[in-house]
Order: sequence, then C-alpha cells, then structure tokens
Amino acid sequence: MIKDCGKCGVGFEVTDEDLQFYSSVSPVFGGKKYDLPAPTLCPDCRQQRRLAQCNEINLYPGECLMCKKKMPTCHAPHIKQPIYCRECWHSEKWDARSFGRDFDFNRPFFEQFYELRKAVPALALNSQGECVNSDYIHYAGWSKNSYLIMHADYCENCYYGYGFKKNLYCVDGFYNLHSELCYDCVDIYKCYGLTCAQDCTACASSAFIRDCVGCNDCFLCVGQRNARFCFENQQLTQEEYKEKMKSVDFSSYKKYQEYKARLNEMSKKHTFKEYHGTNLHNCFGDYLKNCKDLKYSFDCEDVETGKYCYQIVLGGKSLYDVYQFGTNFQLSYECTICGVNSYHLMFSDNSMADSSDLIYCWYMEGCKNCFGCVGMNHAKYCIFNKQYTEDEYNALVPKIIEHMRKTGEWGEFWPYEISLHGYNKTSAQMYYPLVREEAIKQGFKWEDCETPAPEFNKVVKAKDLPDKIQDTKDDILNAAIECEITGKLFKITAPELQFYRRVGLPIPRRNWIQRHFDRFNQRNPRKFWERNCGKCGGKITTTYSPDRPEIVYCENCYMKTVYN
Ligand SMILES: [Zn+2]
Ligand SMILES: [Zn+2]
Ligand SMILES: [Zn+2]
Repeated sequence: MIKDCGKCGVGFEVTDEDLQFYSSVSPVFGGKKYDLPAPTLCPDCRQQRRLAQCNEINLYPGECLMCKKKMPTCHAPHIKQPIYCRECWHSEKWDARSFGRDFDFNRPFFEQFYELRKAVPALALNSQGECVNSDYIHYAGWSKNSYLIMHADYCENCYYGYGFKKNLYCVDGFYNLHSELCYDCVDIYKCYGLTCAQDCTACASSAFIRDCVGCNDCFLCVGQRNARFCFENQQLTQEEYKEKMKSVDFSSYKKYQEYKARLNEMSKKHTFKEYHGTNLHNCFGDYLKNCKDLKYSFDCEDVETGKYCYQIVLGGKSLYDVYQFGTNFQLSYECTICGVNSYHLMFSDNSMADSSDLIYCWYMEGCKNCFGCVGMNHAKYCIFNKQYTEDEYNALVPKIIEHMRKTGEWGEFWPYEISLHGYNKTSAQMYYPLVREEAIKQGFKWEDCETPAPEFNKVVKAKDLPDKIQDTKDDILNAAIECEITGKLFKITAPELQFYRRVGLPIPRRNWIQRHFDRFNQRNPRKFWERNCGKCGGKITTTYSPDRPEIVYCENCYMKTVYN
C-alpha cells in the first residue's frame, strides 16, 4: 500500500509486514485488541517529529525546585519547566500521583498531556545508574569523571563525546565504542591510542587513519588491513617508520590541520564499501553491527527484527520507529530514548528500567500499564498520573482510545506543538536542518536562549592561541576562548588541559557544539541514493550520494578487491 505523507506529501510504502507489526503491538484491554492504524506520515517526517522532542546537547543553568541545588539542565530557563535534581526526583519526598487528574472527554488528548507535562517536575538531565563526578552528562549513565558526554554509557574520564560506550580517556568523539585513549575519532570500535581516526576497528597507536582494521603504528593511512609501520599508505620498516615519525608533530595546531586535510584528500581517492557495517544478516541501513532482519536503520548494534531504528545499542528486538537507546528493549513502536529491560512501549519518551505496557508516557522508570503519564516511578495502572484499579484501568483506557480515534490522535506520536524545546536545539536540527524563517514557517518554535558565557578574566581569540601545546600556559584555564567559527566563548577545563598535555595535542579552537557538528558532518547522512558500483556497474542503494568523490563498490566487488 502506498500512502501520501500528511506533512510533506511524499508517497511512502506500508508493507504487509509493517501491517503485521502494527497489529502485533496493538494493545489489548479486557480481551479486546485496539488496532493501531498505519502511519499517516512518511518515515522521515515521523523521525523528525520524534527528534523534535529531544534536546540532547544544549545545557542551561538550572535549579532543583526541591533542594535548591544549582545544576545544569536541558530545559531553557524561560520555559519555566519545574525541574528536580536526580536525588530529589528519585526520592520519597514527592509523589507524581499528586499531579493526577481526570481525563476530559471534551478536549483533545495531546492538549491535556501537554498541561500535565508542564506541571510535573522533570529530571534536570537524564542520567542513569551510578555516576560519579559527572554532573554534565545527559542521556548517559554509569560513568565516572566525565564531562559533556551524551548518548553515552559506561565511560570513565571521557569528555565531549556523543555515542560513547565503554570508553576510557576518549575525548572529542562521535561513536567511539569500547575504546581507550582516543582523540578526535569518529566511528571507532575497540581502538586504543588513536588520534583523528574514522571508521576504524581494532587499531592502535596510529593517527590520521580512515577505514582501517587491525592496524598498529600507522600514520596517514586509508583502507589498510592488519598493517604495521605504514606511512602515507607506504609500507616501511620499523626503523624507517620511526625515523619518518620524528618529523611529525601533533602538538602543533597548524600541522594537525595539514594532516587532517591530507587525510581528507586521500579518502576522496579511496574505495569504500556501499555501506558501513559488519556481521549483518538480511539488513538494510548504514552503520549497523551484529544485526538481523533490520531495515532502514542506522547506528544500531545487536538488534534483531525491526525497521526505522536509530541508535539502538546493547540489544533490541522487534522495534519499529525508535530513536535511542536499547539495552534489551523489545516489542515497541514510536519511542525516543527508551530501553533497559523494557518492552511494549508505544508513543513514549524517556521511559526505561523494567518498564512495560506504557502508552503515551514521558519520563517513567520501572512502570507498568500506564497511559498518558508523566514522571512516575514504579507506578501501575495510572492514567494522567491518577491511580486506578486494574479493572478501572482496563475500562477507561479503551474509552480514551475511542476518543483519540475521533480526534485523529490515536496512533500518532506527540505533535511538535507540545515539544518543550525550540526546533534548533533539538536533534531534529541535526538530521533535518532548517534556517530560522523556514522553521517558523513550518510551525516550529525557534529558541534564542543561549547557554550563558562562562566566567573568565580575559577573552582570547582562537587565532591568538599558541600554536603548540608546549607553549600553552596554565592561565588559559581562567580565560575564555572565542570560537573561530561561531564566535561563542568557551573554556578549557583542567582535566582537559591535562589530557592535551599528556598526549601532546593542541587545545581546540572551536567550541564543543561546533566540534560536535564538525564530526557529525564527517559521517554519511541518513539518506539513500541510487548509484552504480564503481567496479561492476551494478545498481547500489547507498548513503554515498552520486556527486561524492569517493569510489564506492558493491559489497561483492569490495570483498573481492579488499580481501582477494
Ligand atoms: Zn513526509
Ligand atoms: Zn534536589
Ligand atoms: Zn560491484
């Protein structure tokens, strides 16, 4: 069945398999199944709608409404969202049921849901598990001595990272997994001691490398397999390599940029496989690892059966339309930031930790059978935060569903209108970027509130910083640096300076959000194009657009060429 998207008008396919999935997740109350309709928006518009609810990287100063502690939060101050710190939110000192209310059958569901969301104190930032000395991490957990890492778990001494899992001393990275002592890396897996690497697995003690596997002691290399002592893709002896490396100086910002530019030039002439991924069975997507029967999905690891999944890691099964994050997450549909031993969640955001059967919920932990609830901990049979018996719950929810069918809300994720964030501060701006005028024209809000400038005793322009780390004095810690791109002021923290000195790297010239976007832009977009294999000419569907300079091979040709 081909449907026209209710937002952008583009035709999209709903397959029999999709319909089967929608039927399998449709909830049952009192023995009767309440079928979910097929989606009315195309997959991209659905993804944009979900992302427009998530502010993952912009933090503002905030204050806990209960204990008055000052702390960072993802909620812009002028929105006046009541917030609690982690300790207070999880404490016995309040009960989200006190915000409980009756559902009003004379009004639309989302309008009432928005009012409840605005009333119930939200977590200032979302961190899970045991976190030590890591107050500035968001959508992250189980981490120690880390700063500004997002979509990250099990990290120690990591700074400025997105998509970090089980890392130690990784700084400035995008998708660094199981890695240690890596800097300025994008999509690396089980790596150690890398500087400026991209798409590398099991590599160590190397710098400025791309698409390498199992390499050690390599410099400025692209597409090497199990290589050692390679310099600009030339095999050298150990002595020759050591001699050559004497002329290499990472500690100079100028030189660093030259090496980076050289790597980019080399990459343009390199042959790439049509997709990024390993150990896949019957999958279609990009940046996938250890997945089975997963379609139109990106950045997933250990996921089985699903479609339109993004950034699901550490285990997922039977998932459709989910943006983050997994960790044993099953049988769910249209969710963002959900997981940790949870199943059967629908149209929910930030719901996790042994949760199940939640529909239209926000910020729930360990909850079961709740509908339209906000900020609850270990709740059961609640509707709009009001407690019901099991029988009452099973009788009332179907009535609300019938009401939502009439209003056209049933089966739709929350509309953007009830997002708590300006479009430009959400993850939607990463994947579906809009300029201010266009965003407003499309009905999105624009957020002008900025993270306030740090305290400082002087401003140093990026271009006036010493070229080398050796010439960078301690007083840089009291100064604010003016980003060379955005002009925004940012600071270097003491542990960060210590790291740069320890590994001999220059301090950054751009503020961290700019660096985050720079790395993001190094990756392929979440978009497919038709193009021809550079070898056999066969048709391929790939995230490398036809106008890109890289040579792209179909999987067959790539395997024959690289592993012949
Ligand atoms: Zn659309
Ligand atoms: Zn507090
Ligand atoms: Zn081919």
